[in-house]
Amino acid sequence: NRYIAIRHHVEGSPSEDDFEVKTAPVRWTPESGEVLVKNLYLSIDPYQLNRMKRQSASHHSVDVILPGERIASTGVGEVIASACAEYEVGDVVAGVLAWEEYTLFRPSPAVLMGKVDASSGFPLSYHVGVLGTSGMTAYGGFFEVGKPKKGDKVFVSAASGSVGSLVGQFAKLAGCYVVGCAGTKDKVDMLKDKLGFDDAFNYKEEPDLKAALKKHFPDGIDIYFENVGGEMLEAALANMNTYGRVAVCGVISEYTDAGKRASPDFLEIIYKRITLRGFFAYDFMGKFHEYMGIIGDWTREGKIQVVEDVSDGLESVPSAFAALYRGQNVGKKLVKLA
Ligand code: NDP
Repeated sequence: NRYIAIRHHVEGSPSEDDFEVKTAPVRWTPESGEVLVKNLYLSIDPYQLNRMKRQSASHHSVDVILPGERIASTGVGEVIASACAEYEVGDVVAGVLAWEEYTLFRPSPAVLMGKVDASSGFPLSYHVGVLGTSGMTAYGGFFEVGKPKKGDKVFVSAASGSVGSLVGQFAKLAGCYVVGCAGTKDKVDMLKDKLGFDDAFNYKEEPDLKAALKKHFPDGIDIYFENVGGEMLEAALANMNTYGRVAVCGVISEYTDAGKRASPDFLEIIYKRITLRGFFAYDFMGKFHEYMGIIGDWTREGKIQVVEDVSDGLESVPSAFAALYRGQNVGKKLVKLA
């Protein structure tokens, strides 16, 4: 079984050199209650960087990844051996696997393993993104935390990414006015021409983010879906309307050690009665099937476009991961195993 491990704790932005391919034996015959899966698609997610730092630098100390260890990650796989009554050879499952070729696991709510309905007609990769954690994050974060009303003005950062591209499209379906930002012209064009955003801009070309947002939102922002942090968060807060909501999903610019930490103007938050609420995708686990039913219908009806960015082969995991921090992915980044 080949797997990807970190060579050492990662400092700053991740690079290919921080990783190595390792090998470990596979137990081909599962013990009672275990299931052996051949992994088909692996998810590549920004938050993993926080687990790769030294324990003292990590906010998720219980979850720190050690050099040489397997790296848990969501994914989709096919059951190739089972000693568990609920799973048969040939079942396709989605949940927490690892950046490796084969994963042996004991099904439990903690590993969120569930069977995928292969007859749904959706590509299996969707269960890593739009019909998996990204969809749950975008739907729960936007609708439950953002609490949109028709006509609300919505700003989405990292809008061309996995979560952001869905949030912007959900906002349009909810009758909102939505502007996204991304880091290249092609991404900005995609947001406007393919995904139906009302407007979009390249934040790397804006010397003054506060002024850029003022220009795009002359009447202020009602909902900011926050993926980036740092100056982006400060600029968005400065443009929020009274009773505005900030759905704090992620702060990718702050995951790298050099990233500037946001220092928002708290007087602004007080005077404008702004709500900032952080959340985890798994907060919405109880509504997973409800959300996926809705998103599945929208996808089938062509009301949302699914954008995926697929790399090939286990050895591409390190470059796929580093690409997130270089802004090189468009939509959901995943790795297809040969
Ligand atoms: P994306 O597909 O959005 O990929 C990351 C993107 O972030 C890049 O393509 C890049 O796009 C942008 N980016 C990278 N570095 C910077 C930077 N320094 N400043 C500004 N933008 C940057 O990833 P996901 O959709 O998976 O995740 C988006 C956010 O949501 C992340 O912050 C992630 O941690 C968070 N998240 C939170 C979850 C939760 O449960 N709370 C669950 C899943 C994700 P570009 O620069 O071109 O805009």
